[in-house]
Amino acid sequence: MKYYSTNNPSHQVSLSEAVIKGLAPDNGLYMPERIPVLSPELINRMSEMSFREIGYEVISALFSEDLSDHQIQELVDHTLAFDASIVKVEEYVYSLELFHGPTLAFKDFGARFCSKLMSMLDEEKAQKIYVLVATSGDTGSAVANGFLGVDGVEVIILFPRGKVSPLQEKQFTTLGKNITALEVEGVFDDCQTLVKQAFLDEELNQKLLLTSANSINIARWIPQCLYYFYAYSRLPKNGKKVVFSVPSGNFGNIGAGILAARMGLPIDHFVAATNLNKVVPEYLKGAEFLAQPSIQTLSNSMDVGNPSNFPRLKALFGDDESFFREKVKGYFYTDEETVRAIQQVKEQGYILDPHGAVGYLGLKDFMAENPGYVGVFLETAHPGKFKDVVEEALGETLVLPDRLAAFLKGEKKVIPMEKDFERFKAFLKNLG
Ligand SMILES: *Cc1c(COP(=O)(O)O)cnc(C)c1O
Repeated sequence: MKYYSTNNPSHQVSLSEAVIKGLAPDNGLYMPERIPVLSPELINRMSEMSFREIGYEVISALFSEDLSDHQIQELVDHTLAFDASIVKVEEYVYSLELFHGPTLAFKDFGARFCSKLMSMLDEEKAQKIYVLVATSGDTGSAVANGFLGVDGVEVIILFPRGKVSPLQEKQFTTLGKNITALEVEGVFDDCQTLVKQAFLDEELNQKLLLTSANSINIARWIPQCLYYFYAYSRLPKNGKKVVFSVPSGNFGNIGAGILAARMGLPIDHFVAATNLNKVVPEYLKGAEFLAQPSIQTLSNSMDVGNPSNFPRLKALFGDDESFFREKVKGYFYTDEETVRAIQQVKEQGYILDPHGAVGYLGLKDFMAENPGYVGVFLETAHPGKFKDVVEEALGETLVLPDRLAAFLKGEKKVIPMEKDFERFKAFLKNLG
């Protein structure tokens, strides 16, 4: 299978190049040249298959030209090392819990798949791969934990000193092994700038194989379609149409759901639910797509004013905007509405995190306007990850899951770094 750039369909590369490069040289996003369609019989049979068996079928359909059966099995087993679960919240309303991985957020799925695939594509291990990541929190923890202990890959995480919550910081500064954390004297944008400069520096790129593993990489994007297949297979449908509501920031997660639908999964509609960073909901209501500066909210992993996967969504609908607007409905919510949803759903015995709360609200509004659906919202993080917001909303203390509490006991190890490219470059040159 070849992968093309959304900016130029005739620019096509191999799987290996798409994964190692991440972004196409023309700044386009890579997309599979064709989308395989699974038979309705296979999709029906998934109700009797395990998550891993489903994963194996779906990944084989996409990657069997490039990877052996054994590699696909290994990749799926590594990625689906923990569960996703469908939990009933109300009549016809289900939560798809994606927070059972090591860092308690759905990004664990993509990060684990990406790390394993990179290591496989670099089979000869002739050259070490250096993954550079700038983070304001979540991405750093998912990537660090996903790549921990993976052969032939070194991960360098840059984060702004004092700007990341202590719990998040612990998730990528205490791991050791092939994970190095650089504590940058500056803000997130400074970290991002250092990483971008490194990718452009010829001397460094001759010496080291540098890559990014950010959320637009197909190796992080594609595996996210797996839990839509699994959720659909476990969902009691009662003859109703199915809608998925996805709390969205960069729109990779919802894009993977649309990919699953294009592969034959009978999802009738999608809801793109956001906080006040509402560029896409406005587009879906008929406005132009206009990137905005991001606005800070309580669901801060979705504070994205210029969603990077937008071109991918358009490509999935064959650049047919009216089809796109027909199949995906957009809703956005304020922090006050988010907090009220957390409080209200708690009364029904379920605790939402702020991102899941936005997904829940979008689902409820869609279902109120469109009868006859059974709906699933994606619960993208464990409420304990956003302890302060949830505790304040509920007026009670949350018990942290053991694996989150365990991070807090680890010892923080960082290398201090100035926001000066020459220093950063010298540090990287010393590694090679
Ligand atoms: C990253 C993230 C999102 C947004 O996902 P996208 O794929 O960027 O749309 C939503 N919720 C949580 C908890 C996240 O970490």
